[in-house]
Amino acid sequence: MAISIFDDTMVNMTWPEVDQAAKDNSIVLLPLAVIEAHGPHLSLGTDTYSAHTICCLVKQKLSYRGVKAVVAPPFYWGVNKATGEFPGSFTSRESTVRACLYDICDSLYNFGFRKVYGINIHGDPLQMRSMIEGCKEAVEGTGIEAKYVIDKWKVGYLNEQLEGMNLTGSEPYCLLIEPETPVDYGEHTGNELHAGANETAQMLAFHPETVRLDIAKQQPVVIPEHDDIIKWIAGEGSRAMTPRCYIGAPAEYDRVDGMARYTNFAELVVAGIMDDIK
Ligand SMILES: [Zn+2]
Repeated sequence: MAISIFDDTMVNMTWPEVDQAAKDNSIVLLPLAVIEAHGPHLSLGTDTYSAHTICCLVKQKLSYRGVKAVVAPPFYWGVNKATGEFPGSFTSRESTVRACLYDICDSLYNFGFRKVYGINIHGDPLQMRSMIEGCKEAVEGTGIEAKYVIDKWKVGYLNEQLEGMNLTGSEPYCLLIEPETPVDYGEHTGNELHAGANETAQMLAFHPETVRLDIAKQQPVVIPEHDDIIKWIAGEGSRAMTPRCYIGAPAEYDRVDGMARYTNFAELVVAGIMDDIK
């Protein structure tokens, strides 16, 4: 079956349907991701498929609670510092991302929508910063309530990675949600960063056709030392450090419940949104 990141999004609606959704005060869920190298076993679209899937799950779970929502066209021209040296990792300047987020929010405002929640799957600190700042500029410039969904753990991570970030999570352009409860799936999965067992299991759960399973099974565990991981995140010698472009244990995918990880995260986003709109 062909995969479409337009499934269940505004893209497959007609303009009168979009118009009606705005008149019904629907909130907008905006999937945010990148096109990025994900090891030899996962497709470049992994993060985009994840962001799309999670937004669709959130939409469904909100509808059970009587909240109308639409999923915006997924955004995937994000920032790829860490894996930027690999073929297939498209990267944008932060200014491009900020401008795109602003324009997307401005368009949504003009359609009549008033609340947007940006749900980003990609862990690059510069991606997060540009998206948070894009939401801030949209709030200030268009009047829309655009909020970047983030948890306390990621607020701390960003403040640690980026000097002068000084984020609290309670800014009007952020939605602070509860962090995920770490699940111990074995000795390596807790230290994974990119395209390891966790992401492989998540793709197997929702888009198995994108996984090269025979290749995943052959991949050795790759987990650099902490200081090297910091350099990897910053894109300093990432390709030399991880020539296969993953950090984790792809072959251990069968230890992880990929479905549960997605649905648990979607529940946390839903709880945050329900609290925000009450
Ligand atoms: Zn990823």
